Amino acid sequence: MKRFIIANWKCNPTTLALAKKLFISVQKGLKNIGNSQVIICPPFVYLQELLKFKKELKFGAQNCCWEEKGAFTGEVSPKMLKDLGCQYVILGHSEKRKYSCESNSLINKRIKSAIKQGLKPILCIDSISQIKPCLKGVSKRNVIIAYEPIWAIGTGKTPSFKQAEVFNNKMKKALGLKTIILYGGSVSIKNVKGFINQSGFDGVLLGGASLRAKEFMSIVQAIEDI
Ligand code: PEP
Repeated sequence: MKRFIIANWKCNPTTLALAKKLFISVQKGLKNIGNSQVIICPPFVYLQELLKFKKELKFGAQNCCWEEKGAFTGEVSPKMLKDLGCQYVILGHSEKRKYSCESNSLINKRIKSAIKQGLKPILCIDSISQIKPCLKGVSKRNVIIAYEPIWAIGTGKTPSFKQAEVFNNKMKKALGLKTIILYGGSVSIKNVKGFINQSGFDGVLLGGASLRAKEFMSIVQAIEDI
């Protein structure tokens, strides 16, 4: 079974040269991956350049507009992302909800627009109650879900594997067994196998660890070895 590993670079690194360096070391280290789908989500401005190196890795953006084009200053449309060669887009991340006040209904519009343009949304949620409004009018099969408890993001704290499993089972009940569900929040080499083997997730979403090439590669390798 294919496992998903999403690398959310957030607003990092600070130059294109550093972004290329990080990407090249990650790509070199991941030559022989077979069972995992690694998806790199850098800031928008690095996508075009990094997509030139594209091999076994796939790319995602960290947000997209709810419209295809028009007077929407500061937005990047899913059509533009698709045209560059992106296949995925992270939507509803808790940092966008917090710092840009994104609501479930706005996220829902972004999801619909992404799907219309052929991008696969990776919807981040922190509670079951976000699923219904974010996926209103959307086929559950068209999205990947990342369960990310806000208190676990970037803190080094994580739920127990049992607690995560209970939540995962609730989501499977709400979404159906075919939906891909990932765990995100302070994933490390120490806990990654537990979230997959014990909690039953289909993969992980990594923030901090995705910026440290060696650690990132060892996490991918650990997932490959499962
Ligand atoms: C995230 O940004 O979604 C995330 C999971 O971050 P971290 O791995 O740093 O907790």
